[in-house]
Amino acid sequence: MVRLEGTGIGGGIAVGRARVLEVASRDVPRRRIDSAETDAEQLRLAQAVGQVKAELAGLVESLPKGAPTEAAALLEVHAMILDDPALSGAAREAIVEHLWNAEWALSAQAGHLAAQFEALEDAYLRERGRDVQQVADRVMRALAGLGGPAADVSEPVIFVAEDISPADMLTMRSALGFAIDLGGITSHTAILARSMNVPAVVGLGAARARVQDDDWLILDGDAGVVIVAPDAGVLADYRARQAAGERERVELRRLTGVAAVTRDGAAVALQVNIERPDEAAAAADSGASGVGLFRSEFLFMNRAELPGEEEQFEAYRTVVRAMQGRPVTIRTIDVGADKTLNAGAASASVATNPALGRRAIRYSLAQPEVFLAQLRAILRASADGPVRLLVPMIAHHHEVDSLMRLLGQAREQLRESGQAFDAELAVGAMIEVPAAALCAGYFASRLDFLSIGTNDLIQYTLAIDRADHEVASLYDPFHPAVLRLVAGTIEAGRRAGRPVSVCGEMAGDWRATRLLLGMGL
Ligand code: PEP
Ligand code: MG
Repeated sequence: MVRLEGTGIGGGIAVGRARVLEVASRDVPRRRIDSAETDAEQLRLAQAVGQVKAELAGLVESLPKGAPTEAAALLEVHAMILDDPALSGAAREAIVEHLWNAEWALSAQAGHLAAQFEALEDAYLRERGRDVQQVADRVMRALAGLGGPAADVSEPVIFVAEDISPADMLTMRSALGFAIDLGGITSHTAILARSMNVPAVVGLGAARARVQDDDWLILDGDAGVVIVAPDAGVLADYRARQAAGERERVELRRLTGVAAVTRDGAAVALQVNIERPDEAAAAADSGASGVGLFRSEFLFMNRAELPGEEEQFEAYRTVVRAMQGRPVTIRTIDVGADKTLNAGAASASVATNPALGRRAIRYSLAQPEVFLAQLRAILRASADGPVRLLVPMIAHHHEVDSLMRLLGQAREQLRESGQAFDAELAVGAMIEVPAAALCAGYFASRLDFLSIGTNDLIQYTLAIDRADHEVASLYDPFHPAVLRLVAGTIEAGRRAGRPVSVCGEMAGDWRATRLLLGMGL
């Protein structure tokens, strides 16, 4: 049994046999040609391009009625790349100039273009290099005399690949899931998998090398996990989870419009946690009364450069607009511990105990320019709808002082540049360090609201690494010490007249619901 981790695209759990896909461009047949052959080689390339163009047009024509709306657009993008002189035109020139065969010329040019995209700062544009590669792979298959998709795609299997082009993915209608080595959440492959509602994990790195055809796989598209050759116990566990997940989804859907009110008439603000802006639409659709926690650090991870103020502003505004007037709580970045930034992107420390190191607000205060850019972006998004700013891992009074000073500076900078923002923007602290819970009254007196991060509060109270499976059985939300800290925080908020919410997983644990409401949450 092998466990692989990547980026989950969602879609729930799939269990099935693996079908490993080859990539056409992997072994490019390179041959130097004679100068007399250049015309014939150019013609061969032009015919292959023509064949792929016809295939793509055919796919657009044959899209079924229920096909995802993005499908036709993605196919058109690929047709445009195919037509672009920077790809096939330059490859034709390379045939003449270097006396390369068509495959060699095409793969060299595709590689060159992909590298140019790879160097771009914008994550979305960077992913477009994969589209170029996918188009080239398709032409490569045509040059090899193979038409159509990369595999027999009619079987209900989990496809495992280095990458899958949107065009190929569309033909894999019976797929149970996708396990893909490349790509991030903005890859077209990911976008399409999401809109097809098929469980998918991207960015796995080595799935293709570790999985063989017909291996049994468990693919958890929500957790971003693929388990290869699971043992019987694990398989039974996931099958049960899969069945329960499906039952639950059907049941929960029926409750979307029901007001969250206790039997004795107390209204409960039931909000969602999100990690990416593109989750906001589903959040709004779910009937949530707001976003209780937007983990902004996911905008900063898996990339070479940190996102600037504009990119962040766009992301925050997307969420605010999608929520249509319902409050959005944006947490400033919580990096460190299990959420690391890529090397070179920022000076994250390598500590013996990263969970106790320069995490969250400690990291932000050590990088004031990065923090200021984020504060400005969040403030600017507040001009579009109700936003609350939430700061993780607060434990010291001087952290509040520094936060307020920097926030004042960010407001001043925006006033100077004439940018709009909500001057009354609520500022809150996460209570996730026992010291903060014990001093919750102080934090409540200085801030507008508190939000209890039970995931970390349990970890730090019980000295249990939340990511360590060997001590997972000791990670107990109902330990009396944890409950005392939670109850004390709620009580401190009540006394100070400040709202208190829970944004940790405990808020989604039905066993804790009555207890938390009874504590006055
Ligand atoms: C928490 O600690 O409970 C929390 C919500 O933050 P995160 O899970 O992102 O650490
Ligand atoms: Mg936390």
